[in-house]
Amino acid sequence: MIIDGKKEAELIRNEIKKEISELKKKTAKTPSLSVILIGDLAPSKIYVKNKEKSAREVGISSKIIQYPKNVSEKDVLMKIDELNKDENTSGILVQLPLPNQISKEKIINAIHPSKDVDGFNPINVGNLSSGYKSIVPCTPLGCLLLIKQVEKNLSGKHAVIIGRSNLNGKPMAQLLLKENCTVTIVHSKTKNLQKECLKADILVAAVGVPNLVKKDWVKDNIIIIDVGINKVGEKIIGDVSFDDLRNKAKAITPVPGGVGPMTIACLLKNTLECFKAHQL
Ligand code: NAP
Repeated sequence: MIIDGKKEAELIRNEIKKEISELKKKTAKTPSLSVILIGDLAPSKIYVKNKEKSAREVGISSKIIQYPKNVSEKDVLMKIDELNKDENTSGILVQLPLPNQISKEKIINAIHPSKDVDGFNPINVGNLSSGYKSIVPCTPLGCLLLIKQVEKNLSGKHAVIIGRSNLNGKPMAQLLLKENCTVTIVHSKTKNLQKECLKADILVAAVGVPNLVKKDWVKDNIIIIDVGINKVGEKIIGDVSFDDLRNKAKAITPVPGGVGPMTIACLLKNTLECFKAHQL
């Protein structure tokens, strides 16, 4: 089974659109997302544009606040403070990466946890790892929803996650622990990656190394979620050798068309949750 992330993301977006339209009738208000974009990195500009377009399509008003590459940290922090206090702003996102003069840690800490649609603020990270209600980072949330499309009950499954980033690997591990999986996280210093991967019933690869996971790294009937986005020549490919594994796995995500569309859908989902938390 090839997991169709595009289709699943569309279903989520349709549900969000419907809910926003119902909430608008009740409250005369709609969610709004403020995206801060610093500098002119081409991929960041594309991501932000896509986020804005997807937000608009479901009825979330979206505003891009653009700064030049040399903007001061103080100016960005002041803007975040203003947005934190603005009752018409439901969610705030600062597009990463940031230029060197701006501390990622300070920026992430400055976004109020209740408006932190990326789920990166340490309060949300702490709530997630404590098993409390929290805003969950969009990509791992999207991965979990895709896994649950294949199998509802994950209790007792062995999940192996390749990558330990704050963005992907660590929150993915917390989500799967919450689902009662036995979780192994592996990374660049892991001694025998293949041996660890062979234990997996569920494998999530969030690495950034093209075709890292080979056919003889996994057992049969596994669920494989490929988070990787790697540009090789003109093609975008994942961290998993898709062609070698598509017939071995029980279910596998393609790249593109797997996790990517779910990330944006989950951003919209988080923005709606932030709106509801403020308004209802
Ligand atoms: P990251 O911060 O660079 O983390 C990569 C992780 O992979 C690190 O933990 C690193 O280990 C580990 N790693 C690197 N090389 C390895 C190797 N040869 N063997 C085992 N582990 C290795 O990356 P990220 O932000 O998590 O992103 C990972 C990938 O997902 C990238 O391709 C990115 O473009 C993609 N991505 C996709 C989406 C989406 O929506 N589909 C969203 C976000 C990111 P160490 O910790 O030891 O360095």
